[in-house]
Amino acid sequence: MIFDKGVGDLFVSRIAGNVVSEDVLGSMEYACEHSGSKVVIVLGHESCGAVHSACEHVQAGNMTQMLQKIQPAIDSCLNLECDHHSSEFENAVVFKNVNIMVDRVRTESEILSHLESEGKIKIVGAVFNLHSGQVEFI
Ligand SMILES: [Zn+2]
Repeated sequence: MIFDKGVGDLFVSRIAGNVVSEDVLGSMEYACEHSGSKVVIVLGHESCGAVHSACEHVQAGNMTQMLQKIQPAIDSCLNLECDHHSSEFENAVVFKNVNIMVDRVRTESEILSHLESEGKIKIVGAVFNLHSGQVEFI
């Protein structure tokens, strides 16, 4: 609904915290190689519960490893002069996490980075604003 598309128009791989994994990369590669997808969008969203949990260092079951993938974004925001338990800080982490995951898509998927360098696809990051319904491309 965010991009005003119908059922089946978008190849969507949803994962908490928009983190990269082998399965997510494989789904993206499949979408671009076999389903004709032209744009890979790593789409975070403000007020992300996964980012919040990562900032709170939640450890539980398989969530621990998933949330640790967000830690580099947290680390790179620690120099921000705001309360590190505030929504301002967490939303900064959301944007940084999207950028980091976009970089990881490029470095960890030879197929996708090759398609991008050939000009066949674009790989972009964006953040969905829950309140306005707008997507801010980074
Ligand atoms: Zn979320």
